[in-house]
Amino acid sequence: MGWNTLNDISLGGKVVLTRVDINVPVENGIVTDDTRIKRIKPTIMDILAAGGKPVLLAHFGRPNGKYIPEMSLRVTVPTLEKVLGRTVTFIEHPDRAVIDATPADAVILIENTRFSAMEECNDPEMASFLASLGDVFCNDAFSASHRAHASTTGVAALLPNCAGRLMAEELSALKKALGNPQRPVVAVVGGAKVSTKLDLLGNLIDKVDTIIIGGGMANTFLAAQGHGVGKSLCEHDLASTAQDIMERARLANCKLMLPCDVVVAAEFKACAEHEIVAANACPPDMMILDAGPNSVAQIKALFGTAKTVIWNGPLGAFEIEPFQTATFAAAKAAADITKLGDLITVAGGGDTVAALNTAGVADDFTYISSAGGAFLEWMEGKTLPGVAALGG
Ligand code: AMP
Repeated sequence: MGWNTLNDISLGGKVVLTRVDINVPVENGIVTDDTRIKRIKPTIMDILAAGGKPVLLAHFGRPNGKYIPEMSLRVTVPTLEKVLGRTVTFIEHPDRAVIDATPADAVILIENTRFSAMEECNDPEMASFLASLGDVFCNDAFSASHRAHASTTGVAALLPNCAGRLMAEELSALKKALGNPQRPVVAVVGGAKVSTKLDLLGNLIDKVDTIIIGGGMANTFLAAQGHGVGKSLCEHDLASTAQDIMERARLANCKLMLPCDVVVAAEFKACAEHEIVAANACPPDMMILDAGPNSVAQIKALFGTAKTVIWNGPLGAFEIEPFQTATFAAAKAAADITKLGDLITVAGGGDTVAALNTAGVADDFTYISSAGGAFLEWMEGKTLPGVAALGG
């Protein structure tokens, strides 16, 4: 792999600037989900064990270069202390002397990097200021690595750098799924719209053996094939784009799988009356809200013959009962085969992770990426500047 890990750099007595993602949900001044904080613990503990002093750099919310008291990272300190079992020193206005004066086993957290307007434009002045605070830069925030900011790429160029444990784990899982995967590779691409996933489909066509298209996106393809989709969510203006994608897939020998049956309802609401019809038989006054049982059976069979599954996007409107059925059943099948050791399953994206968590199968997938935008850009085949800055 092209990047250093924490094992490759001497950390004893060094101040290790560590870019983390602790952009956690907060309600009434309290962190309501500590998942992101738990995931950076191995990196912080390993830096401490190697005699380094971790100084955490992170953003929180979108303050757009201004100080906004509600977006201060101070709110995360109690949770960080609880998860790490250490005192965390919060520094609002960082300087090297203050960092050096804290005890050797301290964990330091610096105020929201996005309070400075220089962060998001990757201003060299901010990058050198950050570099002056430490001796080594460790990036453990894959989820922020699709942005070329001062705290992700600028500072990386100025100090010896390495990937943290979470970053390294994420990069190797992603490489396993698309870099040099075990074949056949099946991609599940669902979600609302084709328009947001054009680059992703374009990249996958050349890399995977089959793409299962689900969710609202599938409606656009069904319509492009000349089937009525009634009142379904559908981008009719993208019919020729969908036809191009089908043609490109045919030429690349990548199979596109659309649902063969679907669940339709007259209304987009919980427990709406619904029925199962063939994918080419959506009544004009109804909408497609999920894939049907025969489609799920086909998907399960495909997973049974695959060696790698990469998944982004739900197969239906999974937030609304009972239109989660296909997503959950397919996710369970993927998880069960993964548990047998026969399949590598990698998934990511906000809605996908929410769906897999609700289905109760997230722990059984080989890897679930906690990154949203960065995971998508990686699936699109783009170079992530924060990763490139590490030499990855
Ligand atoms: P995305 O953010 O593009 O991955 O889309 C996820 C959203 O697509 C979820 O909120 C789903 O409820 C929605 N979705 C999936 N399938 C359908 C469908 N058939 N009709 C309407 N919305 C859907």
